[in-house]
Amino acid sequence: MTGAETSPGILGQTMAPWRAKILTIFPDMFPGPLGQSLAGRALQAGLWSLETVDIRRFARDKHASVDDTPFGGGAGMVMRPDVVDAALAAEAEGRTIYLSPRGRLLDQSLVRALAAEPVLTLLCGRYEGVDERVIEARSLELVSLGDFVLSGGEPAAIALIDAVVRLLPGVVGAPEGLEEESFETGLLEYPHYTRPAEWLGRTVPEVLLSGHHERIRAWRREQAERTTKERRPDLWTRYLADSGADGKKDRKG
Ligand code: SAH
Repeated sequence: MTGAETSPGILGQTMAPWRAKILTIFPDMFPGPLGQSLAGRALQAGLWSLETVDIRRFARDKHASVDDTPFGGGAGMVMRPDVVDAALAAEAEGRTIYLSPRGRLLDQSLVRALAAEPVLTLLCGRYEGVDERVIEARSLELVSLGDFVLSGGEPAAIALIDAVVRLLPGVVGAPEGLEEESFETGLLEYPHYTRPAEWLGRTVPEVLLSGHHERIRAWRREQAERTTKERRPDLWTRYLADSGADGKKDRKG
């Protein structure tokens, strides 16, 4: 999918680009949004690579069926364990994740850990999902995008890969920007403003025009704390617990 074989590593030595393998019955959904903008340019530059595997290739009958009706009855179809297992046996490499609303929630710390892996295999479900036995037999790691139900694992795989790719060395122009982002500090990020300085009668907070870096830093910190407290009491509680009672301790480093 990409040209270059190696990319510059953290210490300047060459290392293999990060790889994602996607097992899906809709390979045409890829690279999709991952072929555009930041992730797309990085893909072209060989900073990461993408391989899709069509699960249907591993179907055994003449209709190439990958699903069947659920034992015990009920609505929908279930992806067959033999077909999914054959695809995994032939193609899975590295940490193997099944995207599922029944998995652990994806968060920035998991994204960071996945960016440190050389290769990831992502299994995308459709219908009611895959037969439980293949999850057990292959010890699949279940990861959920959030507490809602998608119609398939593909949009979840795209979101996961997008989040990983922007952390890879050389992908984001100014990596300092990544350190201040939402979740990296345990807080949501502060609000942003750009030109024009006045728009529809709304001005930009005075401090941001002051050029006073220390005051700007303090204001942003205060805004990040306030936003987190208001919108995400769950994150705020964890932040306070992690950083000491006053919540001011610098967690960088
Ligand atoms: N019946 C299942 C949902 C199946 S949705 C249940 O209630 O748990 C079909 C497929 O979409 C799943 O197999 C999974 O791969 C994907 N999917 C749906 N919601 C998801 C989510 N929140 N995170 C990750 N993948 C999801």
